[in-house]
Amino acid sequence: MPLDQTPIIDALIRIVGAANLVQQEQDKARYLTDWRKQYQGNSIAVVKPANTAEVSAILKLAEEQNIAVIPQGGNTGLCGGATPDLGEHNLVISTERMNHIREVDTSSQTITVEAGCILDHIKSAADAHDLLFPLDLGARGTCQIGGNLSTNAGGLNVIRYGNTRELTLGVEVVLMGGKVLSLLSKLKKDNTGYDLRDLFIGAEGTLGIITAATLKLFPKPIATATGFAAMRDIEAAITLLHRCQAASGGNVIAFELMPKTIIDNVRHFYPDTPLPISEIPRFSALIEIASTAEDSGKPDHDGTMPLEKTLTEVLAKAMEDGLVLDATIASNLTQRNTIWQIRELTPESEIKAGKAYKSDISIPLKHMAAFYDDAEKAATAIMPGVRIFGFGHLGDGNLHYNLSEPLEKRPDFFDYYHAFDDMMKTLVEKYEGSISAEHGIGQKKRDVFLSTKDPASLEVMRSIKAALDPKNLMNPGKVV
Ligand SMILES: Cc1cc2nc3c(=O)[nH]c(=O)nc-3n(C[C@H](O)[C@H](O)[C@H](O)COP(=O)(O)OP(=O)(O)OC[C@H]3O[C@@H](n4cnc5c(N)ncnc54)[C@H](O)[C@@H]3O)c2cc1C
Repeated sequence: MPLDQTPIIDALIRIVGAANLVQQEQDKARYLTDWRKQYQGNSIAVVKPANTAEVSAILKLAEEQNIAVIPQGGNTGLCGGATPDLGEHNLVISTERMNHIREVDTSSQTITVEAGCILDHIKSAADAHDLLFPLDLGARGTCQIGGNLSTNAGGLNVIRYGNTRELTLGVEVVLMGGKVLSLLSKLKKDNTGYDLRDLFIGAEGTLGIITAATLKLFPKPIATATGFAAMRDIEAAITLLHRCQAASGGNVIAFELMPKTIIDNVRHFYPDTPLPISEIPRFSALIEIASTAEDSGKPDHDGTMPLEKTLTEVLAKAMEDGLVLDATIASNLTQRNTIWQIRELTPESEIKAGKAYKSDISIPLKHMAAFYDDAEKAATAIMPGVRIFGFGHLGDGNLHYNLSEPLEKRPDFFDYYHAFDDMMKTLVEKYEGSISAEHGIGQKKRDVFLSTKDPASLEVMRSIKAALDPKNLMNPGKVV
């Protein structure tokens, strides 16, 4: 039966005010597609609540009227999780107005924020108190903490600080129907019953809307050393990672794999991007170590900074052992930014390269080299000339193993999507990995998730979903 939208619109206006309800097609458009513009959907309107009470009233209305609700933060997710389907019973809830920092507690070293706070703003608020909120990803200027929590985002510094789940002490959540669950806690220890907080982290908006969170803060590093190394191969890069961890006392904060294909692609679209070293081999590694110890900020008697010395010694020994072919270490902030520039430009350059199959896999490090080579052989067999853009957070065993169309354009590229998907699924299973390391499931990976997750786990997930959202109105068609 066609939906009579008028009473719903009127009720929403009573909750948030007309100014906070987006109804015009051209204004709604950016909320109805994802960052990569791969998915498209419909929504009665886009509603922008200002606080938890308004979210609660909207979810009460949604349950009464059988409206599906799609929570949306910064809309930078890469799996179509924040995009509605094409149905007419959808309502996108944008958290962009819920952007207040509720409290910075320097004694507990926590920050309590509303779900719509942009990640970069949280980082700046922590910085203003000389503390660090370490979650960091390329979308930091746009993504919101509610989205980060709901995808359990990873990013560049997981190797040292963990992913979003590990950075979170408490959450506040509104359930379908409007009930508010106050799980905001500053406690590191709390063994009172089931851990409800962790249910909502990584749930991609399918169990409720996160409205606020209490996050952990850390001492700010006093010194950082950043290096770029041309590697013999992936196994050499893994050995280098372990050596860096040992030499720095476990203080590697980033360890990124950069294949030549990616570096060439970035320089193709951004030719002014400087190369950190002159000869780029098949694989390079971007390494960053940091320390909060006061002495790390003081130069040695010969003028060298201690962390730079540590990294230089590790790299020199690795060169002697044939693991590293060439390397450079940044000696100031400009050089550090130069080293990071290629990595930061990678996602944009990939989009410019044309059609692509994207993945976000994690593989035990002992299998990473074999996985990389097997996947390259298999992908090239499916489509000769396909470009292998397998890069990313090697330190966490997580690569974005993306396949870009050959230089000679392939209008039929997406006809091979399922073949690439099957190949990836088979190899991830063979090497005991995961099909989603940090981006989530959304709509994009739902089929492969449902066909690979073990049936007992799926059954438990479905029971939880049915208990919290019996009418299946919370972000339907995503995850389970
Ligand atoms: C250039 C670029 C680089 C990136 N790099 C990384 C990276 O290194 N690591 C990484 O993990 N990701 C990365 N991403 C992906 C993306 O930024 C993350 O998934 C991010 O956490 C999404 O946040 P968002 O606010 O944009 O969420 P959205 O895209 O708006 O939503 C993502 C999911 O969360 C749900 N959701 C949003 N807000 C709420 C809420 N308040 N309550 C309940 N559910 C909610 C949505 O329904 C959807 O399912 C990158 C993306 C881009 C564009």
